[in-house]
Amino acid sequence: MINQSNLRKALSTVLDPESGRDLVSLGVLRELQTDEDAIRVELDISSTDESVQSTLRSGISAAVRKLAAELGMRRVPELEVEFLQAGSTPNPLPLVRSVIAVGAGKGGVGKSTVAVHLALALARMGRKVGILDGDIYGPSLPTMLGLQETPPKIDGNTIIPFEKDGLKVVSIGRLVEPEKALVWRGPMAHGAFRQLALQSDWGELDHLIVDLPPGTGDVPLTLAQLLPLTGAVVVCTPQKVAQDDARRAIRMFQQLGVSILGVVENMAGFTAPDGTTIDLFGRGGAEDMAASMSLPFLGRLPIHPELAARGDAGEPATCHDTEGLGDTLQSLGTAFDHRIRMAERGEDRPTLVIR
Ligand code: ADP
Repeated sequence: MINQSNLRKALSTVLDPESGRDLVSLGVLRELQTDEDAIRVELDISSTDESVQSTLRSGISAAVRKLAAELGMRRVPELEVEFLQAGSTPNPLPLVRSVIAVGAGKGGVGKSTVAVHLALALARMGRKVGILDGDIYGPSLPTMLGLQETPPKIDGNTIIPFEKDGLKVVSIGRLVEPEKALVWRGPMAHGAFRQLALQSDWGELDHLIVDLPPGTGDVPLTLAQLLPLTGAVVVCTPQKVAQDDARRAIRMFQQLGVSILGVVENMAGFTAPDGTTIDLFGRGGAEDMAASMSLPFLGRLPIHPELAARGDAGEPATCHDTEGLGDTLQSLGTAFDHRIRMAERGEDRPTLVIR
């Protein structure tokens, strides 16, 4: 199988047409990612000359094909070559004031639901908010925001975000067939996410909320390398088992140097029409976890039939006008906003890195 070391060796045979030196000794290989089906090569090349780039691309492709043949591979992995401009600006989205990730230890805890409602709450406070569906393995924003029927707009190389309830929305689920997104492996996922984040016309935004895939895969890493993150929110349900996964997600962010803006407890209790509250999954588990890790707790969302029904119907904004639920959502938004402002002012506590 192709790995970083044999790939690097193969790339040492590819010459840069401008300097006549090979890519390895030139020191321009920024990142190599490999797996069975896909390879991704990032080059730090200052030349924007198309012919230089295309010579390099074909040289790399030939080297990969040769390597695959030497290794007796039946199929040559898909290849993606990206040219990064040396010395390019550290923030590729200078018009976006803060980028915030929403993550979870595992799927189904309501991460996308919380991401959407936090974004809507901020928009209701008058902020300009974008939401990026980075959950490239299981994008749910098209359904949740009722975008299935709207055709995506692409202008040349630029993705034009959908506009919904005051939010600018970009989702991989509206750009490729969902079946394709599901089989993406690491290197391709990296490239796809990068394109969504950087090639979308976000315009000026106060906040860009990124709904990450659950767990601790490639996308959070890509995001943290790509954009200066203001922080991350981690969503967790009250059960003990859920907390173990959430802790892993929190540690991942911390190891990437991303501060945790707060933990949200979702599906905390259900209040029946007669007013009786049943704590189906317990209560307070996520808050206890946050306290034990010295992290802010943003608040809890109950199990509420409207959250599920309005999400399925693609009209989540109406929840903010629902008696009781609307107040809960807005106070969660206020706590979130407070933490974002602290982080923007550099007042968030330095996070404790637990390895
Ligand atoms: P994740 O992004 O973590 O996979 P989703 O946000 O897609 O989870 O939520 C999974 C399902 O649970 C959705 O159908 C959603 O409407 C529902 N859901 C999430 N949170 C709640 C809640 N607090 N009350 C009722 N339903 C919820």
